[in-house]
Amino acid sequence: MTSVATAISLITRDEAEHRTAEGAASTCSSDLAQGPWEFDAAEALRGMPAYGPGASSADVAPASTPRQGQLPQEYKDASEDELHARIRAAKETLGDRVVVLGHFYQRDEVVEHADFVGDSFQLANAALTRPDAEAIVFCGVHFMAETADILSRDDQAVILPNLAAGCSMADMADIDSVQQCWDQLEELFGTEPDADGRVPVIPVTYMNSSAALKGFCGEHGGIVCTSSNAATVLEWAFERGQRVLFFPDQHLGRNTAKAMGVPLEQMPMWSPRKPWGGTDPETLRDSRVILWHGFCSVHRRFNVAQIEKARADYPGVRVIVHPECPMEVVDAADEYGSTDYIRKAIAAATEPTVFAIGTEVNLVNRLAAEYPQHTIFCLDPVICPCSTMYRIHPGYLAWVLEGLVGGEVRNRIEVAADVADTARVALERMLAARP
Ligand code: SF4
Repeated sequence: MTSVATAISLITRDEAEHRTAEGAASTCSSDLAQGPWEFDAAEALRGMPAYGPGASSADVAPASTPRQGQLPQEYKDASEDELHARIRAAKETLGDRVVVLGHFYQRDEVVEHADFVGDSFQLANAALTRPDAEAIVFCGVHFMAETADILSRDDQAVILPNLAAGCSMADMADIDSVQQCWDQLEELFGTEPDADGRVPVIPVTYMNSSAALKGFCGEHGGIVCTSSNAATVLEWAFERGQRVLFFPDQHLGRNTAKAMGVPLEQMPMWSPRKPWGGTDPETLRDSRVILWHGFCSVHRRFNVAQIEKARADYPGVRVIVHPECPMEVVDAADEYGSTDYIRKAIAAATEPTVFAIGTEVNLVNRLAAEYPQHTIFCLDPVICPCSTMYRIHPGYLAWVLEGLVGGEVRNRIEVAADVADTARVALERMLAARP
């Protein structure tokens, strides 16, 4: 079985094969070869949370970020083979009582135990197909487990194997900052609809946000979107509102609205904790989409120079990037779309093709292994996975599953009923929105 350290060195070697001209590729942190429990222990000592090694290591984690208690020593000492055997044995004992979900960006050593692999919303829906499961073990990050809890039955326990697996982008918009922004916008625009019945502002939150923000949208006539349906959701919002407040990912908001013809000058950025969000009332009055100052540190690593290099190295290369990438990267790519779009585009290619992909490296390398007839590589030559996905390790998965076998539910994620009720409203609006 491949260890994380070996996996990273293999990824590095594979990348280096594509990048001989610039020498061996590297990882963004040698700490990635350690067990995530090293960081859980360091956090406990430091008293301050951090995202750990990977793309978000420089982002500031809020003090309220959940922390993971110490993993029992036996799981840290266990060999990878032993952990895999224990996971398989626990799953076999639990049978239909448990369903394990693995996000596309999760490491292979975890994904191999998943009953379903997909993006966050696909996984939350996949869990609904297993009504007999008493426990849903979500190998992803915190907001995904929250969404699964909102959509699942009350008697189903949603478990996040490592509580420190948050999301730096989701943390960039907290409910207090969004409420302060909303109060200022209401002060500026009032609440009365115009002659066409459109209210001044519709809040739209990306799926990658806390349950509290989904609840905020449900409560204020707003809606949730995914990277697959963002344009449909913005159309829904423009039918009902004069403008949109889009959080937390500025890039998804900007790329989507720009493709719909909204001029950049009508998309001011709202920076929390600055007066008028760092913009001014006049600009806000003329706006169509107010973009929250949030971003994904994984997708922010992609740049135009990487695309130019891929085109120089592989004439005819097909460059596909995720819409969480900056606008200039999306503009320079051949195509952009969600992880689902990227997967389908590769699956649909009938001739051997070279693909340069701008999304998380675990998914890109899995696609490369799945479609050996194509040459598929990550645009970023530096191996820098999502810091928080990295916090899930087979050791934590074994620990929560063996807890279930022993009758103990560890690391349950529960959304308060009032928040879940309003968040569900925003999610249901999304499901009902049609292009
Ligand atoms: S890839 Fe980006 S948006 Fe996704 S969980 Fe990681 S930090 Fe969050």
